[in-house]
Amino acid sequence: MLVRRGRRSGVYLFVAVHSTARGPAVGGCRIWGYDDSRAALRDVLRLSRAMTYKAAAADLPLGGGKGVIMVGPGERLEPARRRAALRDFGDAVAVLGGRYITAEDVGTSSRDMSVVAQETRFVAGLPRNGGGSGDPSPFTALGVEHAIRASCQHAFRSDSLRDRAICVVGLGHVGSRVARRLARAGARLFLSDIDRSKRELAQRLGARWIDPRRELEVDVDVLSPCALGGIFDYESVRRLRCRVIAGAANNQLAGEGVAELLAEAGILWAPDFVVNAGGLINIAEERNGYDPAQARRRVAQIADVMRRVFAEADAAAVTPLAAATALAERRLAA
Ligand code: NAD
Repeated sequence: MLVRRGRRSGVYLFVAVHSTARGPAVGGCRIWGYDDSRAALRDVLRLSRAMTYKAAAADLPLGGGKGVIMVGPGERLEPARRRAALRDFGDAVAVLGGRYITAEDVGTSSRDMSVVAQETRFVAGLPRNGGGSGDPSPFTALGVEHAIRASCQHAFRSDSLRDRAICVVGLGHVGSRVARRLARAGARLFLSDIDRSKRELAQRLGARWIDPRRELEVDVDVLSPCALGGIFDYESVRRLRCRVIAGAANNQLAGEGVAELLAEAGILWAPDFVVNAGGLINIAEERNGYDPAQARRRVAQIADVMRRVFAEADAAAVTPLAAATALAERRLAA
């Protein structure tokens, strides 16, 4: 764990390396507002652990890490200080000498990674014209579609999405692309976002708009959470009316016990760290001389992992979360 105060920006920076057992720790760098440094520390540790499991479940030769550039709640860094903070973060990454490779995340972009790269070569997800793999969200969205299909195969004995009722919650970088992919596949779409300007996308795709206050209660085959984490807890699970949950949002469950609750409610929950690995898989392709077609083929394998997780969960009479965690831990131990 590395904690520093940036010499250019004065901003607090955190890098957590959770595991290098399978390779260098990879994980994005987020610029995020926290009440205090303890909250930032907790977050970066939790996120770095999740990256270890995500990489191992996807069978990537990578470990898990994460970076945080801490700002105050609701604070926006003005452009010069933001650039300074990114360069300071680059210094911190350089200190770790390749044990940690950073990339974009919430609050940062591939352009920001070009700034970080002024100070260190251990940066992935640079813009395509800079030789990198660029924006990961199209690949994350592709992986979400594969995961939804594998989940539908398990729950409904068909991976066709034609006329399947699906609600996508959160229409940002990933969710908007998931929605477009599902529309092309012929799904009956329901869309929701707290940003009402996203209604226009619903109109364009012929989807029904759902008031975000009701987004978890829609009666659909599949709910695809693509906004923030922590949305499923002991209270919200009782309101759900879907059969399958498969979406991009990180850390969807407020606690691990919620996985049992979902299973008891007869809802198939596809573990988020398997579903949303497409972006990481894409970044990992940079090691082999980046080829987007090859990245898409690798992302498609999320469906195989998903099928395996569901089969192992059924065989051992455990939740998909327990099965996916066990799969990742077996790989880490090996
Ligand atoms: P984003 O910020 O571009 O989009 C998030 C969207 O969710 C925004 O449109 C926002 O208005 C909306 N939103 C927020 N709260 C909401 C709510 N309560 N109800 C409905 N909508 C709400 O983020 P993104 O890059 O699309 O990522 C979405 C999720 O997927 C995040 O949890 C992220 O950690 C995860 N994820 C993203 C990637 C990636 O490649 N971008 C990879 C892995 C995981």
